[in-house]
Amino acid sequence: MIVRAFPVPVECLSKWSTIPSVDELRPAWCPSCGQPAGTRACGGLGIVGHGSYERQVAGGVAGARDLLVRIRRYLCRGCGRTLSVLPDVLYPRRWYAATTILLALALRLLAGVTAREIRSQLASDGDGRGWKSLDRWRQQLFAPLWSWLGAQVGVPARRTRPGQRTWLRRLLALHGVTARDPTDQVASVARRLGADTAHDGVCGRQLHRDPREAATAR
Ligand SMILES: [Zn+2]
Repeated sequence: MIVRAFPVPVECLSKWSTIPSVDELRPAWCPSCGQPAGTRACGGLGIVGHGSYERQVAGGVAGARDLLVRIRRYLCRGCGRTLSVLPDVLYPRRWYAATTILLALALRLLAGVTAREIRSQLASDGDGRGWKSLDRWRQQLFAPLWSWLGAQVGVPARRTRPGQRTWLRRLLALHGVTARDPTDQVASVARRLGADTAHDGVCGRQLHRDPREAATAR
């Protein structure tokens, strides 16, 4: 899966009429083998459209709730793998949007809001005392959530003590968010964190700028 910024708002991704075309979203190269996308005119396409699927996005995204978005899929003719191209508000293989996950973590860890309040604001099912999803995200912060940024904020390779609050504060500070109540700014930061990343299995990584690096990195 590839996550990138889209040229249209996320609420446009529920209709075929407004979703960007196959050509607009075609990856420039395959993150698995480095195969370039190619062109129809010069030797043919190395990465071709390969259908689509619908994906549900739980919680609030860009003022809408519980969106259904259409995701384009591609086939790499170099390695035979399929590639899905996701908008940067999503986190691969997560029911909730990346923007919701990061906001929930910031409210809990940095602003001291109770899990119950956060759940009532952000969850698809707003009732209940705690929020298991939030507990899980907290445990998984930087492993695997945004794991490619762990070294940047000082997460040790072997975690000996919980440091989620410190790591999250550092991460947001890198993006200019230092306010005690980060609500207004976290959604845009979440999108920047996810843009231009590739995800294979549960792990993610930042995309190489040069396709030759992708081929030699494997
Ligand atoms: Zn490939």
